Amino acid sequence: MSFTFDIVAKTGSARAGVFSTPHGPVETPAFMPVGTLATVKSLDPDDLVRMGASMILGNAYHLHLRPGDDVVREMGGLHEFMRWDRPILTDSGGFQVFSLAQLRTVTEEGVEFQSHLDGSRRFFTPEIVMQIERNLGADVIMQFDHVIPGQSDEATARDASERSIRWLERCLKELQRLEETQPLEPPREEFPPDNPRNHQALFPIVQGGIHSQRRREAAERIQGLYDWAGFGIGGLSVGEEKDAMYEMIRVVDEALPRTHPRYLMGVGFPEDLIEAIERGVDLFDCVAPTRMGRNGAVFTHDGRLNIKRTEYRTDPRPLDPDCDCAACMRFSRAYIRHLFVSEEILGLRLLSLHNVHFLLSIARDARQAIINGDYESWSRDWLSRYRTSSPLAV
Ligand SMILES: [Zn+2]
Repeated sequence: MSFTFDIVAKTGSARAGVFSTPHGPVETPAFMPVGTLATVKSLDPDDLVRMGASMILGNAYHLHLRPGDDVVREMGGLHEFMRWDRPILTDSGGFQVFSLAQLRTVTEEGVEFQSHLDGSRRFFTPEIVMQIERNLGADVIMQFDHVIPGQSDEATARDASERSIRWLERCLKELQRLEETQPLEPPREEFPPDNPRNHQALFPIVQGGIHSQRRREAAERIQGLYDWAGFGIGGLSVGEEKDAMYEMIRVVDEALPRTHPRYLMGVGFPEDLIEAIERGVDLFDCVAPTRMGRNGAVFTHDGRLNIKRTEYRTDPRPLDPDCDCAACMRFSRAYIRHLFVSEEILGLRLLSLHNVHFLLSIARDARQAIINGDYESWSRDWLSRYRTSSPLAV
C-alpha cells in the first residue's frame, strides 16, 4: 500500500497518527500551509522545512489557469516544478469554481464558468479535473465537488451532495484509467510497474451543508463506493455559525471510519484547529496565516494583534514572546511594524513566517498533548488564554 494511516495515541475522538504517502510521512494532527500557485506566499521550501511543514497544498483551478497544468507536467510535476520533495495535496478547484469564477452554469456533466483572470470560458467536469490533478501529480488529490453557500437549505444541500457523490464515482473511474495510461514519472525514465509514486490517493469529500442527516447519509454512501485512503470534510467555514460547524464535524466524526485520516478543508484559525482536533480531525489547511499577514494581522498565544498599530512603534518585544519562529527569535515588533508600514517585502515575509509557524506549532503541540494523554486540559488552557487575553484583537 502506498498510503497508510497508523494511530499512535488517542484521547476521546482526538488522535495522533502517521499518514504515510509516497513522498514521506505526515505526523497528524497536521496543518498544511497553502501554496495556491505552487508557492506558499513569500516563503521558500527551505523555510517550510525549517518550520517542520510536512505536507503542503496546491490548487488545481489556479494552476490550470496559470501556468497551465500541462506546463507543470512537462516540468516533471508539481514536486519537481516547485522543488518540494515532501507530500503535496491538490484541491480540485471545486471551491474556486463556486467562489471565484463568474457566470457559472452547473449541469450534470460539469460546470461551465468564466476564468476570474481573463473572463475566458472554461469547462470543468470530474474527468477534466482528474486530468489536471494527474498532470500536477500530487500525492493526495481531492474529488471535484459541488460547493454551496454555508446557509443553504436542506433541499439545496441534498442536491449538491448527491451530485458530488455521482461526480466522485466518475473521478474514481477516470483516475484509475489515468493511472494505467499516464504514468506519473517523466516518460524518459524507466518506469517500474509497481512504482508506488504512480498512485495518487483520491479523497472523497463529505458535503451536506449544516444538515446532520445529509452529512451522515453522504458519509455512509461514500464509504460504500471504494476503499478510500482518507476523507475530506467540505463546505464548512463558508459563512455558517461556528457552533453549527463544530456540530457538523462531530456528526461526521461519528459517521466516518476512525481508521482513516480526515481532512477538514479550508478551516484553520487557531481555535478551529483545536476544536476540530477534539472532534477527530487530522489534517487542516487555511490561507489565513499568509492572507492575514498581508494585512498586518498576527496570531499570538494571547489572541490576534495588528502590527500596524501605533502602540508597537517602539515595542522591543517579539511578535509573540512564546514563539520560536525565525521572526520572533530575531526581530522586535517595532522593527517589523516599521517594515510593514514602509511596505518592505521583508515585513510581509516575516509576518507569513510567524503565522504559518504558529499554526504548524498548534498542530504539533496538540499532537504531543494527545500522546501525553492530556489533550483535554491542554486545549482548555490554550483556548482560555487565547480567547480571554486578546485586548488587541483585529
Ligand atoms: Zn513567531
